[in-house]
Amino acid sequence: MTRNLDLEFVNLTKRYGDTVAVDAVSYHFAAGTYACLLGPSGCGKSSTLRMIAGHESVSDGSILLGNRDISDLPPAKRGTAMMFQNYALFPHLSVIENVAFSLKMQGKDASERKRRATEMLELVDMVLLKDRLPAQLSGGQQQRAALARALITKPEVLLLDEPLSALDPFLRIRMRAELRRLQRDLGITFIHVTHGQDEALALADEIVVMNDARIEQAGKTRAVFEAPQTAFVARFLGSHNVIALAEGVVAIRADALRINTPETARIRGSVTNIEYQGTHVALTAKVDGDQEVTALLSDKDFFGAPKNLGEAIGLDWEAEAAHALAG
Ligand code: ADP
Ligand code: MG
Repeated sequence: MTRNLDLEFVNLTKRYGDTVAVDAVSYHFAAGTYACLLGPSGCGKSSTLRMIAGHESVSDGSILLGNRDISDLPPAKRGTAMMFQNYALFPHLSVIENVAFSLKMQGKDASERKRRATEMLELVDMVLLKDRLPAQLSGGQQQRAALARALITKPEVLLLDEPLSALDPFLRIRMRAELRRLQRDLGITFIHVTHGQDEALALADEIVVMNDARIEQAGKTRAVFEAPQTAFVARFLGSHNVIALAEGVVAIRADALRINTPETARIRGSVTNIEYQGTHVALTAKVDGDQEVTALLSDKDFFGAPKNLGEAIGLDWEAEAAHALAG
C-alpha cells in the first residue's frame, strides 16, 4: 500500500566541477502524477533523476518526499526506485531471480521472495517467462522484467530514464500504453525522462520542459502545449510556428494556420515544401524576413485547393490562436 507522498525539489542543484547540470530547480509533483521531464540532450534531466534516486549526490538544495528530506538517504531507504535505459538486468540470473534480487539483499526468505516476485511478474504479464535469462528475452520483455524488478520494492516514486529509447517504434508505442496503464493501476508517481515530445504528450499528466539546467516551463501537459511561454518551448514541443510579427514574437500552432489569397492575408509567402502525411498535408512557406512557417492542413482542405512549389500564398489565423512569447 502506497502512502501517496508528494515529491518536491527545493532549489535543487547539481554541479560537476565547473559544470552546473541542474541550477536551483524548484518544483512540486503531486502524489500519483505521471510526469515527464522533457528537454534536449545535456539539459540536466538524467542528473535530476539520479539525484532523486540517490545515485548522484545533491550539490545544493533538497529533495522532499512527503515533507521528509531524502536528499542524503541511501537509495534503498528513499521510497524511490529506478528503471534504467538499458534495463541493467543481471545476465546470469533468471527473470524471477532478477525481480527478487532486492528482496534477497534485504534478507527475505525464499518463500516470500518467490511469492512477491510472482505477484510482480503477474503485474507485467511475464509469469510464463520467469525462468528465462535476459538474453532469451525480446526488448519489450526485458523492459517488463526491469519494471517488475524496480516495482518489487513498492516505491512511492518510480524513476524512468528514457525507458523506451531501446525499443523499435512499434514496440515503443505499445510499451508506452503499458507504462501508462501500470501507473494508473499502481497510483504511484512516475517521473519519466525523455527527449521525445510526442512521448511526453502521449504519457504525461504534467510536463516539465528543461533547458540548460533550468525549468523553462512546467504544468499540465495540455496547458503547456496550448500556451508555450517561450520560443524554446514552442519549438521544442513541435507542431508550433514561432513567427516574428511587427507587434512581437508569437507562437501559432501549425494546425491553426489557413491558406488564403496573398492579397488579403495577414502574411504572405511562397511554398517551399509540401509533405503528404496521410491524414494531413504539411505545407511549408517562406515568409517575410526569411522565416519558414508550416501549416498543417487536413487532406480535404489541401486537395480541395492544392498548391504548388513556388506558388504565392497568404496565411491567416484566428486572433486567439497566436500566443505572445517571452523570448
Ligand atoms: P540529460 O540527461 O538531459 O542529457 P545530463 O543530466 O546527463 O543531461 O547532463 C547535464 C550536464 O551535466 C551535461 O553538460 C553533462 O555533460 C554534464 N554531466 C552529466 N554527468 C556528468 C558527470 N558524471 N561528470 C561531469 N559532467 C557530467
Ligand atoms: Mg540523460
